[in-house]
Amino acid sequence: MGRKFFIGGNWKCNGTTEEVKKIVTTLNEAEVPPEDVVEVVVSPPFLFLTLVKSLLRSDFHVAAQNCWVRKGGAFTGEVSAEMLVNLGIPYVILGHSERRLLLGESNDFVGDKVAYALSQGLKVIACVGETLDQRESGSTMDVVAAQTKAIADRISDWTNVVVAYEPVWAIGTGKVATPAQAQEVHSVLRKWLHANVSAEIAGSTRIIYGGSVNGANCKELAAQPDVDGFLVGGASLKPEFVDIIKSAT
Ligand code: PGA
Repeated sequence: MGRKFFIGGNWKCNGTTEEVKKIVTTLNEAEVPPEDVVEVVVSPPFLFLTLVKSLLRSDFHVAAQNCWVRKGGAFTGEVSAEMLVNLGIPYVILGHSERRLLLGESNDFVGDKVAYALSQGLKVIACVGETLDQRESGSTMDVVAAQTKAIADRISDWTNVVVAYEPVWAIGTGKVATPAQAQEVHSVLRKWLHANVSAEIAGSTRIIYGGSVNGANCKELAAQPDVDGFLVGGASLKPEFVDIIKSAT
């Protein structure tokens, strides 16, 4: 099945106006495969979303890094899905491990967020992944399945969902999963979707890898049959992000 390669750049809580403009200039000048070959989405902090959207080339898109779980209202400090839609932001990252672990977002809460964001018309990059302890105790697939189930229980249309498998031990550590480790989890996750959602959705849903992806390791990871792209943190702030985009071909 033709799953279009997907490259996400998660800028996390980084950047000044000047730095953001510089990254956008690099991206705008880059020669990359066309939009029908690779979908490129960058995710600046909320404050820079509209700036980046206004400056960024039209074949690249923007994503928010989070949004509120329900309709906006008296929720100090939150940003609602409706606001993102109102500003023409097409994508949102939900369930990133930094939010799950540092801010206590549970599987159910992330599932609710995914369902609500989709209901408002946003596309969702939904993150799952195990900690080092969980991997070492052999529970990787149980953890990833439970995180995915909390989403699957609440949605029926997966068209606008990209699943990002991001082992927590690989995020920001320089300790990338080997291509075999990534392929193994992606393949089991796809089988889980096949068994628990549908064959069609298992075949069409993109499962992207995240965790210390860089310009040097992306090619080999991209060659794995069930790796449909990347969610890139640290390297998405650097010119090598362009090399990672090129790994789509
Ligand atoms: P990293 O982050 O590429 O810096 O490891 C990935 C992520 O958190 O999405």
